[in-house]
Amino acid sequence: MDNKTFIIFYGPPGSGKGTQVKLLAQRLQLPAISTGDLLRSEIKDQTELGKRVEAILASGGLVSDEIVQELIIKQLEGERTAKGAIFDGFPRRLSQQEFLLEQLGRVGGEAKIIPILIDVDDEEVVKRISGRRVCSCGAVFHIPNNPPKTDGICDVCGQDLVMRDDDKPEVIRQRLKAYHGEINPMLAYWQGTGQLVTVDGGQDIPLVDKELMEKLKGIL
Ligand code: AMP
Repeated sequence: MDNKTFIIFYGPPGSGKGTQVKLLAQRLQLPAISTGDLLRSEIKDQTELGKRVEAILASGGLVSDEIVQELIIKQLEGERTAKGAIFDGFPRRLSQQEFLLEQLGRVGGEAKIIPILIDVDDEEVVKRISGRRVCSCGAVFHIPNNPPKTDGICDVCGQDLVMRDDDKPEVIRQRLKAYHGEINPMLAYWQGTGQLVTVDGGQDIPLVDKELMEKLKGIL
């Protein structure tokens, strides 16, 4: 991995995308950039931006391109992304994808860009989401697939685990609807370039990781 490497993850909410991003980020020593995490941290700190987006996140809708693009620019300008980055939850729309490709052309020079789709069907998503528990430190668990050692308590920092507001069933349906409306044009672009790496996200975490690493051999 000599060049700058930017990896873009696509997949519905609940696909295990965030987990795979973290595993790969650790292995490749690249920073993971999650716009959802960045927004939740703004909300937690009750910044101006956080207050503006709080209701939108709770409803499962998408925040404006301007807001997330500004967060991305800040990340790309920092030292952290000098060797590349792995994107989780960005881009979410074709307009954001066009913005990102333009930015990467600008900051990356000869950057390698790898798009990855973690593919999972809707029924499996709804089933899984109801088990997701998160900590304000960023750790994510799943009952029964990846439970914390002590019920309801974060293994990493010991705080109480909670269910995200936007993981409630009525909200998840709204998020899936938004996902399907936006994902196809973005994937069509990568199918056109022949670069899309598709992984079966319906498997257990280690198997998804294994399939992904096999498919990335020779690309990284
Ligand atoms: P996530 O953690 O990726 O599931 O994102 C949680 C929520 O943050 C989404 O439901 C949106 O409200 C918001 N969000 C995250 N990323 C984006 C994005 N790229 N564009 C617009 N809204 C976003």
